[in-house]
Amino acid sequence: MAYVITEPCIGVKDMSCQMVCPVSCIYEGEDQLYINPDECIDCAACEVECPVTAIFHEESVPEQWHAYIEKNREWTRVHAI
Ligand code: SF4
Repeated sequence: MAYVITEPCIGVKDMSCQMVCPVSCIYEGEDQLYINPDECIDCAACEVECPVTAIFHEESVPEQWHAYIEKNREWTRVHAI
């Protein structure tokens, strides 16, 4: 299980989440930030820092943004991080 960054981050990329992540598993992509699900330790620190409520636990991602679970995993796989 991991936290997932969803649609509201697109074009925002506030970076507050990245600053509080204890394991540095949040990465900057062209359009949004991404969480490597294999590195995330489920601490929840990032969730409250996001000013646009883009971060959710994998089990709590709103229905319309479910594709972002795979998008985060795929982005980190493609970029080998
Ligand atoms: Fe990092 Fe914790 Fe957020 Fe996972 S839940 S991305 S470990 S701050």
